[in-house]
Amino acid sequence: MRRLYISLLLIFKIVFINNAQDIEELICKESRSFEIMQAYRETEILAHESDFDLKYYRFQWDVNPAINKIGGMITCHFVSNVVGLRNMYFNLHKGFIIDSILYHQQNITYAKEGNYNLIVQIPQDLSVDMLDSVTIAYHGVPPSSGFGSFIQSNHSGTPIIWTLSEPFGSQDWWPCKNGLTDKIDSIDVFITTPTQHKAASNGLLIGQSTNSDGTTYHWKHNYPIAPYLVAIAVTNYSIYTDDVLLGDGTNMPMLNYVYPENLGAAQSGTANLVKVLQFYDSIFHPYPFAKEKYGHAQFGWGGGMEHQTMSFVTSFGFSLLSHELAHQWFGDMVTCGSWEDIWLNEGFATYLEGLARERFNAASDWMNWKSGNMSTVTSQSNGSVKVDDTTSVSRIFSSRLSYSKGSYLLHMLRWKLGDDAFFQAVRNYLNDKEYSFAKTPDFQTHLEVVYGASLSEFFNDWYYGQGHPSYEVIWQQLDNDSLYIKINQTTSHNSVSFFEMPVPIRIKSAGGLEQMLRLEHLQDGQVFTVLPTFRVSNVDFDPELWILSKNNTVKKGTITTGIRNQTSNNFFSLFPNPSTSVVQVQIAQQHFKPNMSWNIVNVMGETLLSGNVQSSLTTIDILQLPKGVYFIEVLGEEGGIQSFVKQ
Ligand SMILES: [Zn+2]
Repeated sequence: MRRLYISLLLIFKIVFINNAQDIEELICKESRSFEIMQAYRETEILAHESDFDLKYYRFQWDVNPAINKIGGMITCHFVSNVVGLRNMYFNLHKGFIIDSILYHQQNITYAKEGNYNLIVQIPQDLSVDMLDSVTIAYHGVPPSSGFGSFIQSNHSGTPIIWTLSEPFGSQDWWPCKNGLTDKIDSIDVFITTPTQHKAASNGLLIGQSTNSDGTTYHWKHNYPIAPYLVAIAVTNYSIYTDDVLLGDGTNMPMLNYVYPENLGAAQSGTANLVKVLQFYDSIFHPYPFAKEKYGHAQFGWGGGMEHQTMSFVTSFGFSLLSHELAHQWFGDMVTCGSWEDIWLNEGFATYLEGLARERFNAASDWMNWKSGNMSTVTSQSNGSVKVDDTTSVSRIFSSRLSYSKGSYLLHMLRWKLGDDAFFQAVRNYLNDKEYSFAKTPDFQTHLEVVYGASLSEFFNDWYYGQGHPSYEVIWQQLDNDSLYIKINQTTSHNSVSFFEMPVPIRIKSAGGLEQMLRLEHLQDGQVFTVLPTFRVSNVDFDPELWILSKNNTVKKGTITTGIRNQTSNNFFSLFPNPSTSVVQVQIAQQHFKPNMSWNIVNVMGETLLSGNVQSSLTTIDILQLPKGVYFIEVLGEEGGIQSFVKQ
């Protein structure tokens, strides 16, 4: 889902900086009273969510875009999970009139509880693990909530009805299970409407028939689908198709239902999306619904919503279309397992839009995407990617945290793990969780398996923790050409004391030579020693914007604290030097303290080996090191560094 928000400032940015066709930002402004209502609603629906397993729905709806109401019949196939289950809890707003509920061709009774519980009373104990079904006929005027749920409106004077159920709105217009634990395995959607209108929905249009009641459109979707992704839109659409050749050779339709008055803009926008669909299809997992279609239906909400196989969009810019398309993998095929984990939908969709910019647009466009998201996130000093209040729709869909910071978390994981490992881990995650639900620890586990080490520290800082770091880089090159780089860090929020990160530093010579360094920054005030092949004239912090940070500074200075303190270098000696298999560190007795540690660092500043100083004489095995020049750092209350040669 993505809400469009265009301000004068952003328009200025479009023209002069981004040169993009569109700028979107999700801004949600629900009143507090509405949020409280949502809170009530969510607690109401969860208690009976696992009582039965949804297998199939047949939706038969009558919809006239000129009239704000829905009427029809749903048939639900299910399997009970509970021995002796009789009360089946569906979620449907209490305002609907229930015309009948049929079970085995018999009318059965029901009860309503609270605002959203419709309890279907089965007259006999349901058998566990046996497929059964119930048919509910109902009609009424859907309540307005969330981002709309069910909206009757018009475009250029023509009436339209469209739905947008995320996050809790399905129950505003059909009897559902409104949680995030049970996908319906397949659905049929029949929509009957006056003949001048056309109805869009999930899956493939497999039938269309007209009689005195109007035209009935039959859509069929044969993939598992979360309830909030079931959608319909009905108006006088113009329809056209783009062909998309997928990686496996499938020629798949991209089917577009657009307002006749916007046909030209839509055609150029969707044509430009074909290559993005092919790109996404190639990088992580094949397009998940390739046996059916991808498509767009234009609607009146100010943004887009990734309804499965049929995104609803208000306009056809690169940003919005790339974002909604990405959700077919992240959100639809793999759905966040709770609203707390919404970044698994929105962070990924935002990041994939960035990847599409990186792949297809000018380098400056990708840089602008990064700097734009970074400045959005760091405009405030607090906030976690983890949603800390899932009863608040505006918190769940926080543009700054779930979208921008979520996407930057992915970008930083890519930096930390490297492209190969990062993309492989995402592929594994999608394959493992395809057509199912996932939570953040599921994704973290897949990353750790490929990375080969724990990422708890990273997730504690960046996912559960709040805020971001600010870096101060001080550098000094001595006459012997050693370059010392000291990196200080402060954090914007006290939930994180320090962000451990590999820090990218670019060094340049006056003559234009340059070298990228990757410095494993593990503590505030850490000093790195580098032996560049040139005299350094300029040092830049993170020129490619890998790390979410703000107010960073770089200055040339004298490094007088920590391990660059020349006088304290004498507090230990190193021998033999050169050495072949071991080096020994001898610390003068008056300098030895408990809790001292050592690192062996190469000339790039990368830490290769490390350990604790056990006593005033410590022996370090260096057999595995390639031949070359290294530094050994001894760190404690005071620190020192000395070089040695491995032969
Ligand atoms: Zn989205």
